[in-house]
Amino acid sequence: MERVSSAGNLSVFNAPGRWFRGNLHTHSTNSDGLLSPEEVLRFYKDRGYDFLAISDHRVTTEIANQDSSGLLVIPAIELDCYDPERQVGYHVVGLGVSPFNQDEDSRRGPAQRLIDTVRAAGGIAVLAHPYWSGQETGDLLVVEGAFGVEVFNATCRRHGKERGEMHWDNLLHRGHRLWGIACDDAHHYDLDGAQGWVMVRAAELTPSAILDALQKGMFYATRGPAILDIGMDGESIWVHCSPVQEIRFIGSRGTGRSVRATGGEDLTFGRVKLPKSSYVRVECIDKVGRSAWSQPIFL
Ligand SMILES: [Zn+2]
Ligand SMILES: [Zn+2]
Repeated sequence: MERVSSAGNLSVFNAPGRWFRGNLHTHSTNSDGLLSPEEVLRFYKDRGYDFLAISDHRVTTEIANQDSSGLLVIPAIELDCYDPERQVGYHVVGLGVSPFNQDEDSRRGPAQRLIDTVRAAGGIAVLAHPYWSGQETGDLLVVEGAFGVEVFNATCRRHGKERGEMHWDNLLHRGHRLWGIACDDAHHYDLDGAQGWVMVRAAELTPSAILDALQKGMFYATRGPAILDIGMDGESIWVHCSPVQEIRFIGSRGTGRSVRATGGEDLTFGRVKLPKSSYVRVECIDKVGRSAWSQPIFL
């Protein structure tokens, strides 16, 4: 996969183009979602989304007349397998794939086969909900070629396992360069719709521009807060964001610092000494506990 320089990723906040809001993991009645594909489009369109990936289980849902909704639909699929050797299951979301169905054989065996299948179909792969799947770091380290991992998956909140920061940080600490994705994985839409999304910086709203920006880390993940800018010099790193209560600058192991609001005020800026770490990422948390996650900046 393409390795992205730290400069390339940091430039997301002043790159030409504009921000596009999208959900990269959704289910329709073509698998176990409660809304039809057309209702799913309407749901996200009504909430101001610019693009959407309908990632039904083991089948690519093709949308006719998608232009009429004004929402860009990125062809997608969610593959799954159980690896008997590791005794753990995996779900992998493929984005930008040529439509296909998962064959039954690939549902038993290593996750690498799923990633390779996505890539052979011309797509890019996301490691879905590692906490919910019961994966340990080693289960993820053996998989190569995914561009991202879900740091937040709204539907997994039903089981209290919506977060993925620890899995992501462990991968980054071990030198794996993956971007963090917040998504809905919407099935029910009442509690898991429009809860987590990505803000992508791209020149235009086309599948190739969005997929290219995703692959390059030109986006951040959020449940609400906006990250406006991240800057860095040789000594420190800083962030401007929408009003939040806490800003975390996270590095490997015990490096990094949190800045917290005091006296009921909100923070819109934080600055700390650059951690002695191979990477740093920023997380901004608002007063109701919703996070925005920057991509890691590799130092
Ligand atoms: Zn899944
Ligand atoms: Zn799913």
